[in-house]
Amino acid sequence: MIVLKDIEKAFGENVVLRNINLTIPKGQVVCLIGASGSGKSTLLRCINQLEIPTKGDVFFEGELITAPNHDMTKTRQQMGMVFQQFNLFPHKTVLENITLALCHIKKMDKSEAERLALEYLAKVDLVEKKDTYPRSLSGGQQQRVAIARALAMNPKVMLFDEPTSALDPETVGEVLTVMRKLANEGMTMIIVTHEMGFAKEVADRILFLHNGTIEEDDIPIAIFGGAKSQRLRAFLDKVL
Ligand code: ADP
Ligand code: MG
Repeated sequence: MIVLKDIEKAFGENVVLRNINLTIPKGQVVCLIGASGSGKSTLLRCINQLEIPTKGDVFFEGELITAPNHDMTKTRQQMGMVFQQFNLFPHKTVLENITLALCHIKKMDKSEAERLALEYLAKVDLVEKKDTYPRSLSGGQQQRVAIARALAMNPKVMLFDEPTSALDPETVGEVLTVMRKLANEGMTMIIVTHEMGFAKEVADRILFLHNGTIEEDDIPIAIFGGAKSQRLRAFLDKVL
């Protein structure tokens, strides 16, 4: 579904990703781990072209999306993204937060958009909050709305950048539960996370980034059961 070929990303002189080669098949759940500043967010953002790689190619379902003439509008709709800061529209209700893009980007009529929005709110167990405003929700609830909003666009892959890092500890679990459910339904997911327990349990594959390169790429038991590289061991010693 996603192929990255020899990706490099530099900000000015600062090369923050190099030699990234990666193939992610449909349905795979990939967790990206690594120290702060190792390039996890930049890698995720190179996939949906929020960052344009300075070198290399990104393919999405066989199509070269880094081609200069490629129109990202359609492609980006197929890639849902969930951020650490939920980025909900504060002056819109929960329901409106979800219907907005459906009406304006997908050109659905209001009633159809609302029907779909309620379906996804049910999926994240928040139907009863449909008419409230984001500020009256907990962080975990806001993040579940953000996930429902992304899912309502019917993406082929979901990208998560530390979706639980800004949450109070007591609401982390409810967001991970939603993500676990999605994974079990076969959604292709790429998740930057510091939740090692979740990664171990839910990921099909774990990538460990160090200084902008993929230092380890393996199944969870191989990553967590006697880590190979010194750097991965040092990282895990710190976070576990
Ligand atoms: P991580 O998500 O693993 O913490 P990032 O991908 O955010 O790491 O950052 C990797 C490196 O790229 C860091 O050194 C960071 O300072 C740098 N960086 C990220 N975004 C930008 C940007 N927009 N401009 C300049 N430097 C950036
Ligand atoms: Mg980051």
